[in-house]
Amino acid sequence: MVTLASNLELCEVGNFIDNQIAPAQSGEYFDKLSPHDGKLLWRVASSDIRDVLSAVSHARRMQTQWSLMPPVQRGLFLFRACNLMELERSRIAEIVAAETGKSLKDALGETDAAIALGRFYAGEGQRLYSRTTTSGVENRYNMIVRQPCGVAALIVAANTPIANVAWKTFPALICGNTVVLKAAEDTPKTALIFADILRQAGLPAGVVNVLQGFGQVVGASLVSEAQVDVISFTGSTEVGRWIGKIAGERLLKCSLELGGKNPFVVCDDADLDQAVHWAILSAFSNAGQRCAAGSRIIIFDAIYKEFVTKLIAATEQLRIGNSDQDNLGPVINVRSLERMLNAVNKAKNEGATILCGGSRLKNSEHANGFYVAPTLLENVNVDSEISNCELFGPIAVLYRVKNFEEALNLANASSYGLTAAIHTQNYHRALQFVQAVQSGVATVNGGTFGSEPHMPFGGLKQSGNGTREPGTEALDIYTELKNIYFNVLPNHV
Ligand code: NAD
Repeated sequence: MVTLASNLELCEVGNFIDNQIAPAQSGEYFDKLSPHDGKLLWRVASSDIRDVLSAVSHARRMQTQWSLMPPVQRGLFLFRACNLMELERSRIAEIVAAETGKSLKDALGETDAAIALGRFYAGEGQRLYSRTTTSGVENRYNMIVRQPCGVAALIVAANTPIANVAWKTFPALICGNTVVLKAAEDTPKTALIFADILRQAGLPAGVVNVLQGFGQVVGASLVSEAQVDVISFTGSTEVGRWIGKIAGERLLKCSLELGGKNPFVVCDDADLDQAVHWAILSAFSNAGQRCAAGSRIIIFDAIYKEFVTKLIAATEQLRIGNSDQDNLGPVINVRSLERMLNAVNKAKNEGATILCGGSRLKNSEHANGFYVAPTLLENVNVDSEISNCELFGPIAVLYRVKNFEEALNLANASSYGLTAAIHTQNYHRALQFVQAVQSGVATVNGGTFGSEPHMPFGGLKQSGNGTREPGTEALDIYTELKNIYFNVLPNHV
């Protein structure tokens, strides 16, 4: 058996099936490049339907055994895995940083968030509450219990990779599901080290399996596989819509965590320095590769000039690179980079003004990497493509509004509804906004991002299909409720 512990530095990243690392059955690989310098990092197994069938059959084989283990005991595996993740914190973060181009500091923060999430779900093994109520029928008692769905197909994006895999795998496991995790093409080794840590924590072979490969091949085969009982997907709205259709045809439970085009409103009474600070983080941290990025900045007329001057100055001071002193790194791959620059050029041709950025960084330090200068645009039509399409990069559009009503209308004039933020010192405005804005998360005087392990996250409209992860709300995705009745026969007492 080849294990990751002895194999970490090899430049080939395989599948993880039945606790073994193995190449794809096709024997084929694709290249994973470093977003920081464009160099080959490793070659990744290009799986196909054969690998999907193998992973799913191992997950199916182990499903009953894993589901029969009391949740409290399942939680102990999770606690052990989290302790190991803590010990391996640096190694995990190094892989995350290498694969994404983000700084080690940010990668460590993300690793810690994944560990905190794991510990939250490990504790849920001691709770896993459901509801018990009273029957209306004499001598009848009932209890409602949670049961696992079965085999969970988990598909993730690459933006915060260790948090993304933890976000889905830990709740699926504590609920008693076995897992087939489809790693993102750009962060294969992060998923692999995560699975290997679960193995080291004693997780029985076959309970967690990881597939590498392309979404249209291995992801599509996985969601179409008859032995899969629940799908949880984090990714683009376009792919989510397709997965939703497949799941709908099969009447399969399906959680879709999709894109966002999130509004960040700056009112005339806002603390402008605070608002600039949070606008910069919302638009540009993680190179704007957040579903919760603040990519539409809506500013009151009265302070537009002052705020925008400050915002441009702060944007121009951002340090770009992959060190701990930098504020943002590259975008994940050259395809994403080209897609976002094309959108910016199109907006420019349609009359948008580029206030800063708008191009790839070409100086010697950045030229080989996938670096996009933090970009601010104004004079953009509300109906234009750039106002409506998620770019998933360090690009934000500025809008000028007369008053609160116009700001709220513009905030809601989007097909997405994931997160929103408002900066104001007016209590009434703040409350009115958080109630009326069409989003799953709304923040006053902060950023558009920032989920916590024990809080529900998710969106309205095209940002999802109504489910929420993580928090205890995710337990509803990974379990089925069963209502059990007991009838007492008094003459048998
Ligand atoms: P994507 O939809 O292209 O890919 C996401 C994952 O789906 C990848 O693992 C990919 O291989 C897989 N995939 C692609 N086509 C598939 C198919 N036909 N069948 C099954 N799987 C398939 O998204 P991306 O560009 O990698 O990620 C960015 C998107 O993810 C953005 O839209 C972002 O907003 C979203 N996202 C959402 C959240 C959230 O919690 N709502 C969090 C992070 C990212």
